[in-house]
Amino acid sequence: MTIDAHHQVLIVGAGSAGVSVAARLLRSGIRDIGLVEPSATHYYQPLWTLVGGGRAPARASARPQRSVLPKGVSWIRGRVETVAPGERTVTVADGRTVGYDRLVVCPGIQLDWNRVPGMAQAVTEPHTSSNYTYELAPRTWDLIRSMRSGTAVFTMPAGPVKCGGAPQKIAYLAADHWREQGVLKDIRVVLVLPTPGMFGVPVFAAELERVAARYGIEVRRNSELVEVDPDGRDAVVVDHAPGARESVRFDMMHVVPPQSAPDWVKASPLADPADPAGYVEIDRHTLRHVRHPDVFALGDAGSSPNSKTGAAIRKQAPVVARNVAASLAGAESLPASYDGYSSCPITTSRHTMLLAEFDYALRHRPTLPLIDTTHERRDMWYLKRYGLPFLYWNLMLRGRA
Ligand code: FAD
Repeated sequence: MTIDAHHQVLIVGAGSAGVSVAARLLRSGIRDIGLVEPSATHYYQPLWTLVGGGRAPARASARPQRSVLPKGVSWIRGRVETVAPGERTVTVADGRTVGYDRLVVCPGIQLDWNRVPGMAQAVTEPHTSSNYTYELAPRTWDLIRSMRSGTAVFTMPAGPVKCGGAPQKIAYLAADHWREQGVLKDIRVVLVLPTPGMFGVPVFAAELERVAARYGIEVRRNSELVEVDPDGRDAVVVDHAPGARESVRFDMMHVVPPQSAPDWVKASPLADPADPAGYVEIDRHTLRHVRHPDVFALGDAGSSPNSKTGAAIRKQAPVVARNVAASLAGAESLPASYDGYSSCPITTSRHTMLLAEFDYALRHRPTLPLIDTTHERRDMWYLKRYGLPFLYWNLMLRGRA
Protein backbone atom coordinates (compact mmCIF):
# COMPACT_ATOMS: atom_id res chain seq x y z
CA MET A 1 0.00 0.00 0.00
CA THR A 2 1.27 3.50 -0.84
CA ILE A 3 1.18 6.00 2.02
CA ASP A 4 0.80 9.52 0.63
CA ALA A 5 1.52 11.28 3.93
CA HIS A 6 2.21 10.40 7.55
CA HIS A 7 1.72 12.38 10.76
CA GLN A 8 2.62 11.70 14.34
CA VAL A 9 -0.90 12.76 15.29
CA LEU A 10 -3.69 12.76 12.72
CA ILE A 11 -6.97 14.46 13.61
CA VAL A 12 -10.19 13.77 11.69
CA GLY A 13 -12.50 16.82 11.69
CA ALA A 14 -11.62 20.46 12.42
CA GLY A 15 -14.75 21.34 14.37
CA SER A 16 -14.84 22.43 18.00
CA ALA A 17 -13.06 19.27 19.11
CA GLY A 18 -10.44 18.91 16.38
CA VAL A 19 -9.19 22.50 16.51
CA SER A 20 -9.11 22.55 20.33
CA VAL A 21 -7.09 19.34 20.52
CA ALA A 22 -4.70 20.43 17.76
CA ALA A 23 -4.02 23.72 19.58
CA ARG A 24 -3.39 21.92 22.86
CA LEU A 25 -1.08 19.33 21.30
CA LEU A 26 0.97 22.08 19.66
CA ARG A 27 1.23 23.90 22.95
CA SER A 28 2.50 20.70 24.57
CA GLY A 29 5.34 20.52 22.03
CA ILE A 30 3.96 18.02 19.50
CA ARG A 31 4.75 19.52 16.09
CA ASP A 32 3.79 16.93 13.47
CA ILE A 33 0.00 17.19 13.37
CA GLY A 34 -2.21 16.54 10.33
CA LEU A 35 -5.86 17.58 10.31
CA VAL A 36 -8.30 16.18 7.74
CA GLU A 37 -11.25 18.51 7.15
CA PRO A 38 -13.36 19.10 4.02
CA SER A 39 -15.02 22.40 4.93
CA ALA A 40 -13.58 25.85 4.13
CA THR A 41 -15.77 27.37 6.88
CA HIS A 42 -15.72 26.80 10.63
CA TYR A 43 -19.04 27.23 12.47
CA TYR A 44 -19.80 28.15 16.07
CA GLN A 45 -23.04 26.16 16.12
CA PRO A 46 -24.35 27.27 19.57
CA LEU A 47 -25.10 30.66 18.02
CA TRP A 48 -27.63 29.11 15.62
CA THR A 49 -30.23 29.08 18.42
CA LEU A 50 -29.91 32.85 18.67
CA VAL A 51 -29.96 33.19 14.86
CA GLY A 52 -33.25 31.27 14.76
CA GLY A 53 -34.56 33.41 17.61
CA GLY A 54 -33.67 36.66 15.84
CA ARG A 55 -31.02 37.59 18.41
CA ALA A 56 -27.83 37.20 16.35
CA PRO A 57 -26.87 37.32 12.66
CA ALA A 58 -25.90 34.01 11.01
CA ARG A 59 -22.63 35.48 9.72
CA ALA A 60 -21.39 35.87 13.33
CA SER A 61 -21.31 32.06 13.61
CA ALA A 62 -18.98 31.47 10.65
CA ARG A 63 -15.28 32.10 10.08
CA PRO A 64 -12.86 30.88 7.40
CA GLN A 65 -11.43 27.53 8.47
CA ARG A 66 -7.94 28.77 7.69
CA SER A 67 -8.30 31.55 10.27
CA VAL A 68 -9.04 29.14 13.15
CA LEU A 69 -6.55 26.38 12.32
CA PRO A 70 -3.52 26.62 14.60
CA LYS A 71 -0.34 27.66 12.77
CA GLY A 72 1.89 24.67 12.11
CA VAL A 73 -0.89 22.12 11.61
CA SER A 74 -1.01 20.48 8.13
CA TRP A 75 -4.52 20.83 6.73
CA ILE A 76 -5.45 17.88 4.53
CA ARG A 77 -8.46 19.20 2.69
CA GLY A 78 -10.80 16.23 2.26
CA ARG A 79 -13.25 13.83 3.81
CA VAL A 80 -12.09 10.63 5.52
CA GLU A 81 -13.91 7.59 4.14
CA THR A 82 -12.29 4.62 5.83
CA VAL A 83 -9.96 3.88 8.69
CA ALA A 84 -7.71 0.84 9.11
CA PRO A 85 -6.53 0.83 12.72
CA GLY A 86 -4.45 -2.33 12.14
CA GLU A 87 -2.38 -0.53 9.47
CA ARG A 88 -2.67 2.85 11.23
CA THR A 89 -4.01 4.56 8.11
CA VAL A 90 -7.06 6.45 6.93
CA THR A 91 -8.20 6.98 3.36
CA VAL A 92 -9.52 10.30 2.10
CA ALA A 93 -12.28 10.59 -0.53
CA ASP A 94 -9.79 11.70 -3.22
CA GLY A 95 -7.93 8.40 -2.79
CA ARG A 96 -5.04 9.57 -0.61
CA THR A 97 -3.89 7.29 2.20
CA VAL A 98 -2.58 8.99 5.33
CA GLY A 99 -0.67 7.17 8.06
CA TYR A 100 -0.49 8.07 11.75
CA ASP A 101 1.10 7.15 15.05
CA ARG A 102 -1.96 8.35 16.99
CA LEU A 103 -5.39 9.10 15.57
CA VAL A 104 -7.94 11.51 17.08
CA VAL A 105 -11.42 11.01 15.62
CA CYS A 106 -13.87 13.92 15.89
CA PRO A 107 -15.99 14.30 12.72
CA GLY A 108 -19.11 15.32 14.68
CA ILE A 109 -22.58 13.83 14.43
CA GLN A 110 -24.78 13.08 11.41
CA LEU A 111 -28.21 14.63 10.89
CA ASP A 112 -30.52 11.79 9.80
CA TRP A 113 -33.28 13.81 8.10
CA ASN A 114 -34.62 10.73 6.31
CA ARG A 115 -35.38 8.79 9.49
CA VAL A 116 -38.66 10.71 9.85
CA PRO A 117 -40.76 10.31 6.68
CA GLY A 118 -41.46 13.71 5.14
CA MET A 119 -38.93 15.66 7.26
CA ALA A 120 -36.29 16.04 4.53
CA GLN A 121 -38.91 17.45 2.17
CA ALA A 122 -40.55 19.58 4.86
CA VAL A 123 -37.39 21.64 5.44
CA THR A 124 -37.31 22.53 1.74
CA GLU A 125 -40.81 24.02 2.04
CA PRO A 126 -41.64 27.45 3.50
CA HIS A 127 -43.39 26.43 6.74
CA THR A 128 -40.73 24.27 8.39
CA SER A 129 -37.25 25.10 9.60
CA SER A 130 -34.44 23.85 11.80
CA ASN A 131 -31.70 25.64 13.71
CA TYR A 132 -29.54 22.58 13.13
CA THR A 133 -28.03 23.97 9.92
CA TYR A 134 -26.42 27.30 9.10
CA GLU A 135 -28.58 27.67 5.99
CA LEU A 136 -31.91 27.00 7.72
CA ALA A 137 -31.49 28.87 11.02
CA PRO A 138 -32.32 32.31 9.53
CA ARG A 139 -35.57 30.89 8.16
CA THR A 140 -36.65 29.96 11.70
CA TRP A 141 -36.61 33.65 12.57
CA ASP A 142 -38.49 34.55 9.37
CA LEU A 143 -41.23 32.10 10.36
CA ILE A 144 -41.39 33.31 13.97
CA ARG A 145 -41.56 37.00 13.19
CA SER A 146 -44.19 36.62 10.47
CA MET A 147 -46.54 34.51 12.63
CA ARG A 148 -49.52 36.27 14.24
CA SER A 149 -51.86 33.34 14.95
CA GLY A 150 -52.22 29.59 14.43
CA THR A 151 -50.26 26.57 15.63
CA ALA A 152 -46.49 26.37 16.08
CA VAL A 153 -44.87 22.98 16.68
CA PHE A 154 -41.35 22.42 18.06
CA THR A 155 -39.96 18.88 18.08
CA MET A 156 -37.08 16.90 19.59
CA PRO A 157 -36.18 13.34 18.49
CA ALA A 158 -35.30 10.42 20.77
CA GLY A 159 -31.62 9.57 21.20
CA PRO A 160 -28.55 11.77 21.60
CA VAL A 161 -28.60 15.09 19.75
CA LYS A 162 -26.19 17.99 19.79
CA CYS A 163 -27.13 20.21 22.71
CA GLY A 164 -30.17 18.46 24.17
CA GLY A 165 -31.55 21.82 25.30
CA ALA A 166 -31.59 23.41 21.82
CA PRO A 167 -34.92 21.90 20.69
CA GLN A 168 -36.73 23.68 23.54
CA LYS A 169 -34.65 26.88 23.69
CA ILE A 170 -36.07 28.02 20.37
CA ALA A 171 -39.64 27.42 21.58
CA TYR A 172 -39.06 29.84 24.49
CA LEU A 173 -37.39 32.46 22.28
CA ALA A 174 -40.35 32.27 19.88
CA ALA A 175 -42.99 32.37 22.62
CA ASP A 176 -41.32 35.36 24.25
CA HIS A 177 -41.25 37.22 20.94
CA TRP A 178 -44.97 36.50 20.43
CA ARG A 179 -45.63 37.65 24.01
CA GLU A 180 -43.80 40.92 23.32
CA GLN A 181 -45.82 41.36 20.13
CA GLY A 182 -49.07 40.69 22.00
CA VAL A 183 -50.01 37.70 19.81
CA LEU A 184 -49.05 34.79 22.08
CA LYS A 185 -52.70 34.40 23.15
CA ASP A 186 -53.58 33.66 19.49
CA ILE A 187 -50.86 31.08 18.97
CA ARG A 188 -51.00 27.49 20.13
CA VAL A 189 -47.46 26.36 20.93
CA VAL A 190 -46.82 22.61 21.04
CA LEU A 191 -43.46 21.28 22.29
CA VAL A 192 -42.87 17.60 21.53
CA LEU A 193 -40.28 15.96 23.83
CA PRO A 194 -39.24 12.28 23.82
CA THR A 195 -38.47 12.30 27.55
CA PRO A 196 -40.77 12.04 30.59
CA GLY A 197 -39.35 15.28 32.05
CA MET A 198 -38.28 18.64 30.66
CA PHE A 199 -34.59 17.91 31.40
CA GLY A 200 -32.50 15.09 32.83
CA VAL A 201 -31.39 17.03 35.93
CA PRO A 202 -34.33 17.62 38.32
CA VAL A 203 -33.41 21.15 39.47
CA PHE A 204 -33.40 22.42 35.86
CA ALA A 205 -36.46 20.37 34.89
CA ALA A 206 -38.45 22.15 37.60
CA GLU A 207 -37.41 25.59 36.37
CA LEU A 208 -38.24 24.68 32.76
CA GLU A 209 -41.70 23.46 33.84
CA ARG A 210 -42.32 26.96 35.16
CA VAL A 211 -41.00 28.57 31.98
CA ALA A 212 -43.19 26.43 29.69
CA ALA A 213 -46.24 27.07 31.89
CA ARG A 214 -45.61 30.83 31.82
CA TYR A 215 -45.94 30.82 28.03
CA GLY A 216 -48.87 28.39 28.04
CA ILE A 217 -46.88 25.88 25.99
CA GLU A 218 -48.51 22.46 25.53
CA VAL A 219 -45.71 20.04 26.36
CA ARG A 220 -46.10 16.54 24.90
CA ARG A 221 -43.82 14.28 26.94
CA ASN A 222 -42.72 10.75 25.95
CA SER A 223 -43.68 11.83 22.45
CA GLU A 224 -42.04 12.03 19.05
CA LEU A 225 -42.65 13.39 15.60
CA VAL A 226 -42.91 10.26 13.43
CA GLU A 227 -44.10 11.66 10.11
CA VAL A 228 -44.63 15.00 8.37
CA ASP A 229 -46.95 15.77 5.50
CA PRO A 230 -45.33 18.99 4.21
CA ASP A 231 -48.11 19.74 1.70
CA GLY A 232 -50.96 19.28 4.19
CA ARG A 233 -48.80 20.85 6.99
CA ASP A 234 -49.59 17.89 9.14
CA ALA A 235 -47.27 16.64 11.92
CA VAL A 236 -47.90 13.11 13.15
CA VAL A 237 -46.94 12.82 16.82
CA VAL A 238 -46.86 9.56 18.75
CA ASP A 239 -47.19 9.54 22.53
CA HIS A 240 -45.19 6.47 23.57
CA ALA A 241 -46.79 6.25 27.03
CA PRO A 242 -50.33 5.33 25.92
CA GLY A 243 -49.13 4.60 22.33
CA ALA A 244 -51.54 7.20 20.92
CA ARG A 245 -51.04 8.80 17.48
CA GLU A 246 -52.24 12.32 16.77
CA SER A 247 -52.12 14.64 13.77
CA VAL A 248 -51.31 18.27 14.51
CA ARG A 249 -51.93 20.76 11.71
CA PHE A 250 -49.20 23.39 11.93
CA ASP A 251 -48.65 26.89 10.58
CA MET A 252 -44.97 26.74 11.43
CA MET A 253 -42.78 23.94 12.68
CA HIS A 254 -39.23 23.80 14.02
CA VAL A 255 -37.80 20.29 13.70
CA VAL A 256 -34.67 18.67 15.08
CA PRO A 257 -33.60 15.64 13.02
CA PRO A 258 -32.66 12.32 14.61
CA GLN A 259 -28.88 12.01 14.89
CA SER A 260 -26.26 9.28 14.88
CA ALA A 261 -22.57 8.72 14.16
CA PRO A 262 -21.47 9.46 10.57
CA ASP A 263 -22.17 6.42 8.34
CA TRP A 264 -18.46 5.83 7.61
CA VAL A 265 -17.77 5.65 11.37
CA LYS A 266 -20.67 3.22 11.89
CA ALA A 267 -19.25 0.99 9.14
CA SER A 268 -15.67 1.19 10.47
CA PRO A 269 -13.84 -1.04 12.97
CA LEU A 270 -13.99 1.92 15.41
CA ALA A 271 -17.70 1.50 16.13
CA ASP A 272 -19.20 -0.92 18.62
CA PRO A 273 -20.83 -3.51 16.33
CA ALA A 274 -23.56 -4.05 18.93
CA ASP A 275 -24.56 -0.37 19.03
CA PRO A 276 -26.66 0.79 16.06
CA ALA A 277 -25.89 4.46 16.85
CA GLY A 278 -22.32 3.58 15.79
CA TYR A 279 -20.23 6.06 17.80
CA VAL A 280 -16.46 5.60 18.20
CA GLU A 281 -16.18 3.16 21.09
CA ILE A 282 -14.03 4.87 23.71
CA ASP A 283 -13.39 4.58 27.41
CA ARG A 284 -15.57 7.24 29.03
CA HIS A 285 -12.75 8.56 31.22
CA THR A 286 -9.53 8.28 29.17
CA LEU A 287 -11.36 8.84 25.83
CA ARG A 288 -9.08 6.19 24.29
CA HIS A 289 -10.56 3.53 22.02
CA VAL A 290 -11.40 0.37 23.92
CA ARG A 291 -9.86 -1.96 21.30
CA HIS A 292 -7.39 0.21 19.36
CA PRO A 293 -4.97 1.90 21.79
CA ASP A 294 -3.57 4.27 19.15
CA VAL A 295 -7.00 5.80 18.58
CA PHE A 296 -8.76 8.48 20.66
CA ALA A 297 -12.08 10.23 20.11
CA LEU A 298 -14.01 13.13 21.58
CA GLY A 299 -16.89 15.43 20.80
CA ASP A 300 -20.17 14.44 19.23
CA ALA A 301 -18.74 11.35 17.47
CA GLY A 302 -17.51 9.65 20.67
CA SER A 303 -19.48 7.00 22.57
CA SER A 304 -18.91 8.56 26.02
CA PRO A 305 -22.41 9.02 27.46
CA ASN A 306 -22.16 12.75 28.20
CA SER A 307 -24.49 15.35 26.78
CA LYS A 308 -23.10 16.28 23.34
CA THR A 309 -22.03 19.92 23.63
CA GLY A 310 -19.14 22.24 22.97
CA ALA A 311 -18.97 22.70 26.73
CA ALA A 312 -18.22 18.98 27.12
CA ILE A 313 -15.48 19.30 24.49
CA ARG A 314 -13.89 22.13 26.47
CA LYS A 315 -13.30 19.56 29.26
CA GLN A 316 -12.52 16.64 26.94
CA ALA A 317 -9.89 18.36 24.78
CA PRO A 318 -7.28 18.75 27.56
CA VAL A 319 -7.83 15.10 28.53
CA VAL A 320 -7.28 13.85 24.99
CA ALA A 321 -4.26 16.11 24.43
CA ARG A 322 -2.58 14.95 27.66
CA ASN A 323 -3.38 11.29 27.07
CA VAL A 324 -2.20 11.34 23.44
CA ALA A 325 1.06 13.00 24.53
CA ALA A 326 1.52 10.44 27.33
CA SER A 327 0.79 7.58 25.00
CA LEU A 328 3.36 8.87 22.49
CA ALA A 329 5.87 9.09 25.32
CA GLY A 330 5.22 5.41 26.08
CA ALA A 331 3.29 5.86 29.34
CA GLU A 332 1.80 2.62 30.66
CA SER A 333 -1.29 4.25 32.06
CA LEU A 334 -2.95 7.43 30.89
CA PRO A 335 -2.79 10.41 33.24
CA ALA A 336 -5.97 12.39 32.42
CA SER A 337 -9.59 11.52 33.08
CA TYR A 338 -12.88 13.11 31.95
CA ASP A 339 -15.78 13.09 34.42
CA GLY A 340 -18.64 13.66 31.97
CA TYR A 341 -18.98 17.39 32.60
CA SER A 342 -21.31 19.10 30.17
CA SER A 343 -23.32 22.26 30.26
CA CYS A 344 -26.24 23.70 28.39
CA PRO A 345 -27.07 27.39 28.39
CA ILE A 346 -30.87 27.32 28.06
CA THR A 347 -32.40 30.54 26.77
CA THR A 348 -35.75 30.96 28.49
CA SER A 349 -36.70 34.30 26.94
CA ARG A 350 -35.18 36.91 24.65
CA HIS A 351 -33.29 38.33 27.65
CA THR A 352 -32.78 35.48 30.13
CA MET A 353 -30.99 32.17 30.38
CA LEU A 354 -30.28 29.42 32.87
CA LEU A 355 -27.03 27.53 32.79
CA ALA A 356 -27.46 23.79 33.29
CA GLU A 357 -24.16 22.20 34.33
CA PHE A 358 -23.90 18.52 35.19
CA ASP A 359 -21.74 15.36 34.93
CA TYR A 360 -22.10 11.67 34.01
CA ALA A 361 -24.22 11.04 37.09
CA LEU A 362 -26.53 13.96 36.10
CA ARG A 363 -25.42 15.72 39.26
CA HIS A 364 -25.60 19.51 39.24
CA ARG A 365 -21.98 20.72 38.78
CA PRO A 366 -21.90 24.51 39.13
CA THR A 367 -18.64 26.16 38.06
CA LEU A 368 -19.47 29.86 38.46
CA PRO A 369 -18.75 31.09 41.99
CA LEU A 370 -21.54 32.89 43.91
CA ILE A 371 -24.05 32.81 41.02
CA ASP A 372 -27.13 30.59 41.24
CA THR A 373 -27.64 29.51 37.62
CA THR A 374 -30.47 27.09 38.40
CA HIS A 375 -32.92 29.96 37.81
CA GLU A 376 -33.26 32.04 34.68
CA ARG A 377 -31.14 35.18 34.90
CA ARG A 378 -30.53 38.25 32.77
CA ASP A 379 -26.76 38.30 33.36
CA MET A 380 -26.55 34.77 31.99
CA TRP A 381 -28.08 36.05 28.73
CA TYR A 382 -24.99 38.22 28.20
CA LEU A 383 -22.83 35.19 28.87
CA LYS A 384 -24.61 33.28 26.10
CA ARG A 385 -24.71 36.11 23.57
CA TYR A 386 -21.25 37.60 24.12
CA GLY A 387 -19.20 35.77 26.77
CA LEU A 388 -19.34 32.23 25.40
CA PRO A 389 -18.66 33.19 21.73
CA PHE A 390 -15.64 35.22 22.91
CA LEU A 391 -14.42 32.28 24.99
CA TYR A 392 -14.87 29.96 22.00
CA TRP A 393 -13.11 31.93 19.27
CA ASN A 394 -10.33 33.45 21.39
CA LEU A 395 -9.55 30.91 24.08
CA MET A 396 -11.01 27.43 23.46
CA LEU A 397 -9.95 27.14 19.81
CA ARG A 398 -6.46 28.32 20.82
CA GLY A 399 -6.12 25.69 23.50
CA ARG A 400 -6.23 28.27 26.30
CA ALA A 401 -9.61 27.38 27.89
P1 FAD B 1 -18.40 19.65 14.89
O1 FAD B 1 -18.13 20.94 15.56
O2 FAD B 1 -19.72 19.44 14.24
O3 FAD B 1 -17.25 19.45 13.82
C1 FAD B 1 -17.09 18.28 13.06
C2 FAD B 1 -16.12 18.60 11.94
O4 FAD B 1 -15.76 17.40 11.26
C3 FAD B 1 -16.74 19.53 10.89
O5 FAD B 1 -15.86 20.60 10.62
C4 FAD B 1 -16.93 18.62 9.68
O6 FAD B 1 -16.81 19.32 8.44
C5 FAD B 1 -15.80 17.61 9.86
N1 FAD B 1 -16.06 16.32 9.22
C6 FAD B 1 -17.24 15.68 9.09
N2 FAD B 1 -17.07 14.52 8.44
C7 FAD B 1 -15.74 14.40 8.18
C8 FAD B 1 -14.95 13.43 7.53
N3 FAD B 1 -15.50 12.31 7.02
N4 FAD B 1 -13.62 13.63 7.42
C9 FAD B 1 -13.05 14.77 7.93
N5 FAD B 1 -13.76 15.73 8.56
C10 FAD B 1 -15.09 15.54 8.67
N6 FAD B 1 -23.00 23.29 22.52
C11 FAD B 1 -22.80 24.01 23.65
O7 FAD B 1 -21.83 23.78 24.36
N7 FAD B 1 -23.69 24.99 24.04
C12 FAD B 1 -24.77 25.30 23.30
O8 FAD B 1 -25.54 26.21 23.64
C13 FAD B 1 -24.99 24.59 22.09
N8 FAD B 1 -26.06 24.87 21.31
C14 FAD B 1 -26.19 24.26 20.10
C15 FAD B 1 -27.25 24.64 19.29
C16 FAD B 1 -27.40 24.06 18.03
C17 FAD B 1 -28.55 24.49 17.17
C18 FAD B 1 -26.44 23.10 17.58
C19 FAD B 1 -26.58 22.50 16.19
C20 FAD B 1 -25.40 22.70 18.40
C21 FAD B 1 -25.26 23.27 19.67
N9 FAD B 1 -24.23 22.91 20.54
C22 FAD B 1 -24.05 23.56 21.72
C23 FAD B 1 -23.43 21.70 20.27
C24 FAD B 1 -22.03 21.96 19.72
O9 FAD B 1 -22.07 22.85 18.63
C25 FAD B 1 -21.43 20.62 19.30
O10 FAD B 1 -21.50 19.72 20.39
C26 FAD B 1 -20.00 20.76 18.85
O11 FAD B 1 -19.88 21.61 17.74
C27 FAD B 1 -19.42 19.39 18.48
O12 FAD B 1 -18.09 19.54 18.11
P2 FAD B 1 -17.38 18.40 17.24
O13 FAD B 1 -16.02 18.90 16.97
O14 FAD B 1 -17.58 17.07 17.82
O15 FAD B 1 -18.23 18.43 15.87
